Amino acid sequence: MAELLSVNEALQAVLARVEPLAAERVALPDASGRVLAAPATALTDLPPFPSSAMDGFAVRSADTPGRLPVVERVAAGRPAARPLSTGEAMGIATGGVVPDGADAVVPIERVTVDGDLVEILDVATPGANVRPRGGDVVAGAVVVPAGVRLGPAQIGALAAAGVGEVACARRPRVAVLTTGTELRRPGEQLAAGEIYESNGPMLRALLASGGAEVEALDSVEDDEAAHRRSIEQGLERDVLVTSGGVSVGPHDLVRRIEAELGVEEVFWGVSVKPGKPLAFGVRGATLVFGLPGNPVSSLVSSVLFVLPALRALQGEADPAPRYRQGTLVGPIAPDPRRDELVRARLTTAGVEPLTGQESHMIVRAAEANALVFVPSGSDELPAGSTVSYLPL
Ligand code: AMP
Ligand code: MG
Repeated sequence: MAELLSVNEALQAVLARVEPLAAERVALPDASGRVLAAPATALTDLPPFPSSAMDGFAVRSADTPGRLPVVERVAAGRPAARPLSTGEAMGIATGGVVPDGADAVVPIERVTVDGDLVEILDVATPGANVRPRGGDVVAGAVVVPAGVRLGPAQIGALAAAGVGEVACARRPRVAVLTTGTELRRPGEQLAAGEIYESNGPMLRALLASGGAEVEALDSVEDDEAAHRRSIEQGLERDVLVTSGGVSVGPHDLVRRIEAELGVEEVFWGVSVKPGKPLAFGVRGATLVFGLPGNPVSSLVSSVLFVLPALRALQGEADPAPRYRQGTLVGPIAPDPRRDELVRARLTTAGVEPLTGQESHMIVRAAEANALVFVPSGSDELPAGSTVSYLPL
């Protein structure tokens, strides 16, 4: 294996090869989890009119306190027929249009009603309980900028601002191909020497959560013709992710066959544990990731490199993994040579490293909800140390 890249060098090498995908129009209710390709602007002032924040009475603040005739009742969606004059009150519902002439709403709890008269007990300040027109956003202003992944709050904001359709990058089409003669599908009977194929389902789940449209190709044996057929098919997608067969054994065929099929290898080998034999290449605009077969290596490499590539393909403004800071609950002994992503559990006490850190121990890793970044070569990190971690 040639010179190993650092985690950050490898990430930069991947991101440098990403061309964001073209945008398409998406109906707002279908845009959850998608990334905006262009800023979305408000089609209306919000609120579109001065709106009552309370059920109560619209008045002129100068008329309070006082006993006023109730000249009209304003329901939400039904503005008053005429402006409010001096010495008058109008009943108003939350969300109702505050009539011209009124500058305050007195909550119903602060009045006594006596037939068609209302007794306002306190002084109302000008503007009290009136939501001014455009107080949230004004028409034409940006509601959500480009490059943001739309979550529930953004979808709600866009809908409120009258946006029914948005421009989003196309979802990346990703082929997942697992390799290994020893692999059997869960549910089948294991013969001697076989194990269950777990990377395919795991990668499908992970990459779909990153916004990809995942196509799982049938797992292939360590056989050249089978590799060639499936890799050729996978190279038609935006991204091909393979698992296994990128190490130095005689049955590790992935890189050689990909080279024969025109994949330009950008790097092979990252100074990271687990996940060292990761291969990355391109063919045209297709990104090609060769993940190591060990399940935890596959998971960690995907979180570090494939998910950021998917975010960049979708035009996310900041596609790099977002590390957070936490406090270690137990000690970690760093690896002398390679940066390490240590599986850990976030608790109210802090970041708790899990036992069972070997790269085949996927069931131990299933307890983890964080990957702690442990730089190589440092002294032991005692409990209480501040560490960077990625939430899983
Ligand atoms: P490889 O990278 O092909 O040398 O595989 C490394 C280790 O990961 C071997 O023990 C494989 O059996 C195991 N492995 C490879 N692919 C998978 C997979 N899809 N699911 C579970 N284990 C795998
Ligand atoms: Mg293998």
